[in-house]
Amino acid sequence: MSEERVPCVEGLFSEENGVAVLHGSKCSNCQTPYFPRSAACHNPDCDDSNMEDFDFGGKGVLWSYSVADFPPPPPHKFDQPFVPYVMGVVDLDCGLRLIAQMVEKPEEVKVDAQVQLIIDTLYHEDGKALTTWKFKQI
Ligand SMILES: [Zn+2]
Repeated sequence: MSEERVPCVEGLFSEENGVAVLHGSKCSNCQTPYFPRSAACHNPDCDDSNMEDFDFGGKGVLWSYSVADFPPPPPHKFDQPFVPYVMGVVDLDCGLRLIAQMVEKPEEVKVDAQVQLIIDTLYHEDGKALTTWKFKQI
């Protein structure tokens, strides 16, 4: 029996047929991307905020990263025992710069690596796997 997977936050992302999608928005006037969704464009050079829903995903390049080598404070949840992890800053090919946890160990992560957006387990609770978006080097 496979483990039940539940998004850690409803409505931010989904996974269909193994493809990870982030539900954001984009200003159709200046093309500025937003995740999570934004009700208005915050680009100071944009004079006509015109937001529409936009789904982000696919591949990108790891711009930089940081290693979290101590447990985050509450209300963050994580599986025990704590294992150090990598937070990556990725420029998605579809135009969004995004921060997310990497699946690789710190010693395996390389700046400029090609990465893929995935949905993966963040922690376990009540017998369920709580999922979030992450990046995986490809
Ligand atoms: Zn705009």
